[in-house]
Amino acid sequence: MKIDNFNFAGKKAIVRVDFNVPLDENGNITDDTRIRGALPTLKKILEDGGSLIIMSHMGKPKGKVNPKFSLGQIKDAVAAALGRDVKFGPDCADAAEAAANLKPGEVLLLENLRFYPEEEGKPVGIDKEDPAYAAAKDEMKKRQKDFAKKLASYADVYVNDAFGTAHRKHASTAVIADYFDADSKMLGYLMEKEVTAVDNILSDIKRPFTAIMGGSKVSTKIGIIENLMDKVDNLILCGGMTYTFAKAMGGHIGQSICEDDKLQLALDIMAKAKAKGVNLVLGTDCVAGDAFSNDANTQVVSVMEIPDGWEGMDAGPETRKLFADAIKGAKTILWNGPAGVFEFDNFTAGSRAIAEAIVEATDNGAFSLVGGGDSVACVNKFGLADQVSYVSTGGGALLEAIEGKILPGIAAIKG
Ligand code: AMP
Repeated sequence: MKIDNFNFAGKKAIVRVDFNVPLDENGNITDDTRIRGALPTLKKILEDGGSLIIMSHMGKPKGKVNPKFSLGQIKDAVAAALGRDVKFGPDCADAAEAAANLKPGEVLLLENLRFYPEEEGKPVGIDKEDPAYAAAKDEMKKRQKDFAKKLASYADVYVNDAFGTAHRKHASTAVIADYFDADSKMLGYLMEKEVTAVDNILSDIKRPFTAIMGGSKVSTKIGIIENLMDKVDNLILCGGMTYTFAKAMGGHIGQSICEDDKLQLALDIMAKAKAKGVNLVLGTDCVAGDAFSNDANTQVVSVMEIPDGWEGMDAGPETRKLFADAIKGAKTILWNGPAGVFEFDNFTAGSRAIAEAIVEATDNGAFSLVGGGDSVACVNKFGLADQVSYVSTGGGALLEAIEGKILPGIAAIKG
């Protein structure tokens, strides 16, 4: 079922959102992006005349009640965002009466799902090596089903709008869907947007397609690099992984970050790109620093000849131009991971050059998807987030989707 075609009038809808918002030490929300992201779905349900049961996790309370992670802290912010009162259900597994009493247009926010270990479905307090672990896991899976069934019993309709947790098979993100028939479960608007954005770069590709993978390590991105290799025209590999490639090619990389056990992998990636006709773009020069600090002395050097005591911390001017050229002509662009230590203001030039080239290509009609924690932080830092086509709210979920994995939260609804 598609949310736009569904009329929620007179229905009770239970909606899984990702309200895992950052809080300061006084419990005030420091970034409400995730609340704003869910509003189109929540408002549609209320405006149709449905009643709304909102469920989410917050932080990692590890299956125990912990006031530090109570969703009660954000109740007023949710009420302000929705422009109506919000009731609070202090125990998500004991909310049948509160849910039954909801009238059309009323909202109930349930307490943190992860106060119950059943949400994640992993046994607690027992080591994976323990011989009793397998039995404990089976037992917990049974309890997870009961927990999901309980949550499902509160409502007529289930909506999943939590892309950030779509890669997890949790009670509220996937298991619960088994208790609703196909006409009574659906993705929310935010989820639909994320799925469409991923589809644009995995199946509905306009060429040329340039993917930019950065960040610190090759090892964490290898699954994605391999999946993209069959799809992209240009593959820019940048950031810390530059130096693993440079060393693999016989370069001298000084103190630069490097995965010595991935040198062969780097050579294999280069050979694979060549065999598949993918234009692999690696940095040629870098801004090296003499300390891992914003105030380090700097010099521009070849990535193959970094002096001892110096480390590559950002893309150099020649590299920035190479990257920008491979991005500007593209019609589909994916960016994940910075080109340097962008947290230090003096080492942002590479990431900024990428972001600006993406904005230019987007202006010229390209579809650009920026996703995965740090590249989102980059476009936000540069004030360019609203000038790319789509900024994903998913970290791990987005990366797994791009790797080509089926996300349990989406499969549970779409089958
Ligand atoms: P990831 O979580 O793998 O996407 O990596 C993001 C991190 O990579 C950021 O914190 C960057 O500071 C870091 N990074 C990017 N380039 C470098 C570099 N040349 N040396 C060390 N860290 C880097």
